[in-house]
Amino acid sequence: MRILILGGTAEARDLARRLAARADLSVIVSLAGRTAAPVAQPVPVRVGGFGGAAGLEHYLRSERIDALIDATHPYAAVISANAAQATASAGVPFLALQRPPWNEVAGDHWIEVADTNEAVQALGETPRRIFLALGRKDLAPFRRAPQHAYLIRSVDPVEPPLAVPHARYVTARGPFTAEQDGALLACHGIDVIVAKNSGGPASYGKIAAARTLGLSVIMLRRPKLPDVATVQAVEDVVAWLDHAPA
Ligand code: NAP
Repeated sequence: MRILILGGTAEARDLARRLAARADLSVIVSLAGRTAAPVAQPVPVRVGGFGGAAGLEHYLRSERIDALIDATHPYAAVISANAAQATASAGVPFLALQRPPWNEVAGDHWIEVADTNEAVQALGETPRRIFLALGRKDLAPFRRAPQHAYLIRSVDPVEPPLAVPHARYVTARGPFTAEQDGALLACHGIDVIVAKNSGGPASYGKIAAARTLGLSVIMLRRPKLPDVATVQAVEDVVAWLDHAPA
């Protein structure tokens, strides 16, 4: 079987690792190409967009893909919708691997918002010190709130920088522990965090640290994803493949 994994997450890498050694499977991971030096994958990789749902359908047909696994990030909604559409058109079995979201627990102060525009509104007019734990492509709306001081963490440098007078940058790749993130937040005098509900342990450090420090988290709600067969664990994908999807 030829398996295409839509990757860009730790789970996609784990899955590829689990499948790499199997002689009955030929596995390819697809990355969007957002990061300059992506983490090495244990299987062959292709990089870059397919050209929408039609482009992905063409790829599935021309590469004779037998099953597609969408293991992209829960906020990567465009590629997930394209994958659902392309597999339906091409008649290719399809499964989504989606990590469960974090839940607010006692001691958390979350303000849930629909998107980054709402997040900007929720920050208010009074200048605050904000940790933006978002992807580089999600930063632009914060230009409209130049009164705040921003700490921005990303895997690759933010180029061009955000057009606000007070912004500092940290380039780092997770996972991040609660201790590391607590020290970062305290060192920069942060009083509010803007985050995505990514789920999983690798980026939970800031959420746990916010609880300890009594900071608010403006949490972007997850986007609506296509209504497709979905599992939450790598083992569930392996079990699905073992039942020879057709
Ligand atoms: P997106 O908005 O859903 O997708 C935008 C376009 O990027 C897609 O239409 C597709 O281009 C291309 N694309 C996305 N993922 C791809 C993949 N795995 N392989 C090939 N092309 C892909 O996606 P995004 O939010 O920019 O995320 C891009 C990648 O970064 C994903 O692989 C995702 O798992 C990873 N990531 C995203 C986030 C996040 O917060 N969004 C966080 C961590 C990691 P075409 O239409 O040309 O095919």
